[in-house]
Amino acid sequence: MNTIYKSVDAGNIDQSVIKEAGQIVRRGGLVAFPTETVYGLGGDALSPSSSKKIYEAKGRPSDNPLIVHIADMDDLDRIAENIPKAAYALADRYWPGPLTMIFKKKSVVPSETTGGLDTVAVRFPSHPVAQALIKASGGYIAAPSANISGRPSPTSGDHVRQDMDGRIDMIIDSGPCDIGLESTIIDLSTDVPMMLRPGFVSAEMLRQVVGELDTDPAVFHKAGADIRPKAPGMKYRHYAPKGKVAIVSGNRDDVIRYIRDKIDGNKGKVRTAVLSDSEDAGQFKEADLVADMGERSDESAIASRLYDMLRACDDENIEEIYSEEFNTPQLGQAIMNRLIKAAGHNTIKV
Ligand code: AMP
Ligand code: MG
Repeated sequence: MNTIYKSVDAGNIDQSVIKEAGQIVRRGGLVAFPTETVYGLGGDALSPSSSKKIYEAKGRPSDNPLIVHIADMDDLDRIAENIPKAAYALADRYWPGPLTMIFKKKSVVPSETTGGLDTVAVRFPSHPVAQALIKASGGYIAAPSANISGRPSPTSGDHVRQDMDGRIDMIIDSGPCDIGLESTIIDLSTDVPMMLRPGFVSAEMLRQVVGELDTDPAVFHKAGADIRPKAPGMKYRHYAPKGKVAIVSGNRDDVIRYIRDKIDGNKGKVRTAVLSDSEDAGQFKEADLVADMGERSDESAIASRLYDMLRACDDENIEEIYSEEFNTPQLGQAIMNRLIKAAGHNTIKV
């Protein structure tokens, strides 16, 4: 398949591109597009065959449901039912924005889109290009992240091109994503709301609106017989570069010493990268790649660089990646959740 590339300026949207992209989606094709979180791989959410194509293009297991994107509050109750008051309160505060809510689905939503579940995940993104495309496509776009399943999610048009060239009809490039980590997911189909995935909207921010909130244990613990993630996607290896990732945890001097020893031992034998905050980056100059994630307190920089840095490790054929822990107040949970998954729960305490 020949993939069409278009650049669209989010501040001055070329409507002819949006119209063309909307027609592709309406005819059952796939268009990758920017959102404020990561790039999405969009198809008509109400068409079973479009959803099947999304799974094929990504190599995604078919039991891993897609998020349905809307661009108008009135469209919510055409696809979802039993919508609790808390959902409207959350929407007031965080929609349009990086929050996905799960409800009982209505029958118009095909089970292909929801991975066979009787619930549907819905998000109203804030990115103007995403909103324009959703409207031009008929109102409902199913869109997972626009990466090959398992790889780090795409936060730039180039990332999408690396993974999706020749596999989909069109890629709309509007430059780097603002947030750079996927949306927060909250399940509102149960009595007590449950956070299934942390994101820009933190557990604390959710609690301020909904009161009582559970967190799926799978967010931070390894899935197994006793822990089965409620978001099916969370059970798969995720966000992972080709090299082996280890998170090094402990007091700062010990962490630096441990990683420097690894770099020394690997020199000339194993290509090694370090994900470090700016304050410590100078300590790791001997590594093959030092990913400077930003200053320790600059959580939005760390979040927005994470996937780009993991992809850079692949570009540099890195075999071992050591990461510091990032403890930031709002996005820290989301950053560490993605890192823990990328590392396959490999944390080294020093
Ligand atoms: P992605 O689109 O790549 O960000 O993945 C979407 C995430 O949302 C995956 O982890 C899915 O398992 C999760 N998800 C989507 N729909 C549902 C649902 N109905 N119930 C639980 N999790 C869902
Ligand atoms: Mg994804």
